[in-house]
This record gives sequence, C-alpha cells and structure tokens, in this order.
Amino acid sequence: MKIQNYINGKFEDPIKGGYIDNYNPSIGEIYGQIPNSSKEDVEKAFEAAANAFPSWSNTTLATRSKILSKIAELIKGKLDFLAEAESKDNGKPISLAKAIDIPRAAANFQFYANAITQFSSEAHESVGLNAVNFTLRQPIGVVGCISPWNLPLYLFTWKIAPAIAAGNCVVAKPSEITPMTAYLLGEICNEAGLPKGVLNIVHGLGTSTGQAIVEHPNIKAISFTGGTKTGAHIARVAAPMFKKLSLELGGKNPNIIFADCDYEKMLETTVRSSFANQGQICLCGSRILVEEKIYEKFKKDFIKKVSKLKVGNPSEENTDIGALVSREHLEKVKSYIDIAEQENAKILFGGNKVEIKNFENGYYLQPTIIEVADNNCRLNQEEVFGPVVTIMSFKTDEEALYLANDVKYGLSATIWTNNLNRTMQFSKQLHTGIVWVNTWLMRDLRTPFGGAKDSGVGREGGFEALRFFTEPKNVCISYE
Ligand code: NDP
Repeated sequence: MKIQNYINGKFEDPIKGGYIDNYNPSIGEIYGQIPNSSKEDVEKAFEAAANAFPSWSNTTLATRSKILSKIAELIKGKLDFLAEAESKDNGKPISLAKAIDIPRAAANFQFYANAITQFSSEAHESVGLNAVNFTLRQPIGVVGCISPWNLPLYLFTWKIAPAIAAGNCVVAKPSEITPMTAYLLGEICNEAGLPKGVLNIVHGLGTSTGQAIVEHPNIKAISFTGGTKTGAHIARVAAPMFKKLSLELGGKNPNIIFADCDYEKMLETTVRSSFANQGQICLCGSRILVEEKIYEKFKKDFIKKVSKLKVGNPSEENTDIGALVSREHLEKVKSYIDIAEQENAKILFGGNKVEIKNFENGYYLQPTIIEVADNNCRLNQEEVFGPVVTIMSFKTDEEALYLANDVKYGLSATIWTNNLNRTMQFSKQLHTGIVWVNTWLMRDLRTPFGGAKDSGVGREGGFEALRFFTEPKNVCISYE
C-alpha cells in the first residue's frame, strides 16, 4: 500500500515523487511505501496551515470542541481497524493496541475538546493605580509536531489535539517507521469536518522532512517527542530562531522496590513496567532496584513470571510480547545484551532472538533480565529501549535514592513501599518529572507530563500543553 501526504485536506504524492519502504516487523517484510517528503512538501503544508489559521483561530471554542469530540468518536468507532493497522505497522500485540494505543488517541481528542472550554487566563487589578491587567492567550500560528514510533497514534495525537484546540494550525510528521495510523487520521479529520489546512501531515525521514519543519522560519513552535540526541539537535537548530520548544526525550527509569510493599501487586506491575510494548515505552522501569532483604526472593519470583510471557505473532490475542519495531532496533537492543559479559553482568533470563514458526524473519527477542553489580555500567546508564531490564540490590534508603538519581535522565520513577515518610522523602528528592508510588503508568490527562535533566524541557498534558501552544500577552488598561 502506498500512502500519501495529507495537505490542505487532500491526499497528495510528494512533489519530487520519492518513496520509502515501510516494513511489517512481525514478518520482516516490506508491505508499503511512504512519501519521502522534501522541503517543498513541508513548504506546501506550511502554506496550507498559514492560510487556514485566520479562520481557525477565530472559530468559536464550541465549534472547535465539537469537531475534536467528533474526531474522538470516529477513532473509537474504528477501534479494531486502527488497532490492526497499528499492530501491523509497529509489531506491538493487537491486544495492547486495542486496550491502550487507540483508546488513548481518542481520549486525547476528547480531553482537549473539553479542556479548551475550561481554559482561562488571569486578570490582575493594579489596586490604587486605576489600572487593570489581563492576559490574552492567543494561538501561536503554525506549529510543528514531531513524534516517535513506539506509541504512534497515541503520541501523535497527544500533540495535535492541544495544538488545534488552542487555535493553531499544524504541520505534523509521524515517525517514518510507523506512519500508517497518522495517515488514517487524515481521513478521520476530513470525516469529522476539520476545516482543510488546520492539520497537515507530511511523511518522510527525520533528517530531511523533520529537519525542514524545525528549520522553517515561520513555524514558531515545535513539540517533539523522541530520542535525547535528536532533541539536542533540534534545540540547536531552533535556538537562533527563538522558537518555543517542548521536548519529551529518553529515560532510564528506576523501579525501586522496598521489602514493605504489597508484594503481589508489585510483582505483577513490575512485569508490565519492564516489558509492556516490548519495553519500548519511554516510561518503562528499566532499572529495577530491590531492597537486599527481599532480593533473592524477588529474583526467583520475577524470573518465574517473566518466563511465562508469550513472545509471538502480534495479531494473536494471547501474545504478551510482539516484534521489535525494526531490524536496526533489534540489533541495537541485542548489542546491549552482548555487552553484559564485558560489564561483569549476568544474564538471568532471556538474551536471545526468538524464531516464531511462519514468522521466521520477524524481529523477536526474549524478555531479558540482567543482574548488574555497578550502576555505572552502560547497561544502567544508557537507554536500551527494548525488552531488557537490569536488577541490582540496595541496603538503605540513602543508597536507593543515590542509585535512582545517578543517571543523566530524569523522566519517571516508581517506588514500591507502604511507608508514608519514605514515600514523601523519595517524591521530593527524586530528580524526575513523574513519580509513581505503588503503581505504574497510571495516567490522569490533567497532570503535567515530562522529564527533568536529559529527559526533556517543558511539560505536556492538561493546561500545560494549552499554555505551550499559546502566547500570553499582557494588556494593561488605565482608567479614570
Ligand atoms: P528519534 O529521536 O529517532 O525520532 C523521533 C522523531 O523525530 C521521528 O519522527 C523522527 O523521524 C524525527 N527526527 C529524527 N531526526 C530529526 C531531525 N533532525 N529533525 C526533526 N525531526 C527528526 O526517536 P525514535 O523515533 O527512535 O523514538 C524513540 C525515542 O523516543 C526514545 O529515546 C524514547 O525514550 C523517546 N520517547 C520519549 C517519550 C517521552 O514522552 N519523553 C515518549 C516516547 C518515546 P524518523 O523516524 O523518520 O527518523
């Protein structure tokens, strides 16, 4: 299947005609082509967005809200179809796409359909000076949204929904590795009555199409989710043009387990936080730190549970772990497992590629547990972004906190404990944007979402995203 760019409400071939192959990771074969869009395509998308902006930014909140709700409703109505497309494009289990990815994409639109009707700005009366100040929060204009391959429609819509709810027009690029559901979103937007040009989707390589969006002098804000290296590059390109930037980047998140936790709930959740989506979630708890008292028990129970996970064809409902997203990514993840020995680490479970009958060329890897002795090893410092976790023990709260913070990343952390004082001390002292206590990936879309340190700049979610996608203007009125 050949997909096309979505510009000004129409589906179009790239101006220069180039295409890139798209792979189905579960079988390792090409199943489609996507536009290899050039600077000219980005310019065309920008023109469409700029033309749509005067009208869309003056469209009532009630109308915008209604259109966003309609998009949400249509996504929900196409749940099975979209989940199948996502699973085929990404390799994730169909059950996960149905339970998480697609419902969340609908929820993103529904949430911002509601949030925009509640978004307000401040007024400051300058008492004694006969003046009043109020803040106008106006849309920025044309904004760029660039998203990764791990949660394709989920993260793509997490940016687009607040951007258009706030009155902006968008030039968006999904990952070239997983373009399919973004393509299908174009059709849904037309069906929902989104005016042409409000959303424009250009497909292509990050280094050319993505780069052209970031370099565009009149795209004044960029919302990006992806790797830390790419984020740093985007920040360098955007800085001289003083663009607004929201960067959601990598993580190396600690999962800190104390002996006083609810053990069964912790064990169940830790299997999920380690291996959901083949470990390809920026929030996965890839470093498991366990209090020494229960270390040996945890090790035994965790290995037993993980050994029962089914690696297999993503389209089978009972598959727990599907295919990794690409051959290159599989090789990258495997290369981290291969350095375990040099790092004085021990593979406790997994470590090998898996051959699935009739799917021999798919990109499958066993869930892998590696015991490490030193937090400074590469396995504990670098983002692997696959079904690989490390475990190590700690003796005291101080040691656990030190180990948890001793990485360059600061996206999220999970703590398992029933001690209230410890919960508060860790919540305050962890250098991360998110702390989960006795849970993982429980999301309330009103909360600020994002990372500290090398995990990013800015926050998405709730009104934070609406603030990002608007420019505050102070108006001061003097009266007699
Ligand atoms: P990348 O950084 O490689 O790519 C992300 C997006 O940026 C893709 O659309 C990519 O296009 C594009 N891109 C690449 N180079 C440029 C460039 N020079 N200019 C503009 N755009 C560019 O990340 P991955 O897709 O590999 O995603 C995995 C990463 O994302 C992990 O590090 C993960 O932790 C992080 N992530 C962070 C989250 C968070 O909320 N903090 C959530 C989910 C993932 P293309 O695919 O075509 O190269």
